[in-house]
Amino acid sequence: MSTSRVYAVSGGASGIGAATAELLRGLGHTVVTVDLRDADVVADLSTAEGRTTAVEGVRALAPVLHGLVPCAGVAGLTGVDPELLVSVNYFGALALVEGLRPELVRAEGAAVVLLSSNSVSCQPGWPAAVADACLAGDESAARAVAARVEAVQAYPASKAALAYWLRREAIAERWIGAGVRLNAVAPGLIATAMTDALRRDPVLGVFADAYPTALGRPGRAEEIAELIAFLLSDAASLLVGSVVFADGGTDAILNPRRPAPM
Ligand code: NAD
Repeated sequence: MSTSRVYAVSGGASGIGAATAELLRGLGHTVVTVDLRDADVVADLSTAEGRTTAVEGVRALAPVLHGLVPCAGVAGLTGVDPELLVSVNYFGALALVEGLRPELVRAEGAAVVLLSSNSVSCQPGWPAAVADACLAGDESAARAVAARVEAVQAYPASKAALAYWLRREAIAERWIGAGVRLNAVAPGLIATAMTDALRRDPVLGVFADAYPTALGRPGRAEEIAELIAFLLSDAASLLVGSVVFADGGTDAILNPRRPAPM
């Protein structure tokens, strides 16, 4: 039996978000997209006003929300403001999750899929202080800590903070106790506008293909969308607080003995 559901996807104008929206719509679901452009709800998730616009815009179109994918994100490229990066990647994503919690709870069995990254376990030396500052929840303080590092370092820190938040919150009464499953995907290098920009980066471009994969190719946005659609579905009913890597084997190559024994 197929049931038509209502989902919200931020970053729906491009890459993984666009592929996810297309896949879910193809399965007969309704999808409300949020983005800076070309979206059902046009909003800037880096600002408080934009986040309010986003939450109210989704709420108006989806009083009951079966799933949320906060996919909008900023890459850690040369010249990118690390403060903007943490505001969009961490605080913008969680503003949607927290803001739309009533609509998710109303669905009586909703799911959220966050976008973490295999850069957390595969990119060495990122600053834990940025992740800690995000997790503490004070955006101004987190921006100040992020301002001390390059965007390329802030990026995995912002994605680690999302995974840590997920691990803390997914098991809590206010989420799983209210029937909302929280999980995340951790993609490797996926061919999108974001990684096209990485390849053009004058400093970091040489590293674009530096990470090995067992498949010998980048991922496709559609491959991540399939995983997200699974995590949103009832077929993933046992997954709570899981961070699912989808990276063609990069994490397995670089971290062969993980999970580590207790
Ligand atoms: P993309 O650049 O193709 O799409 C990102 C979207 O986010 C764009 O449409 C952009 O307009 C939107 N966005 C950016 N700032 C915004 C803001 N302030 N307000 C609203 N929307 C905003 O990127 P992608 O590769 O599809 O990445 C999607 C997500 O997946 C991101 O969170 C990214 O960090 C994560 N991710 C990507 C990869 C990869 O290799 N592509 C790997 C791991 C994780």
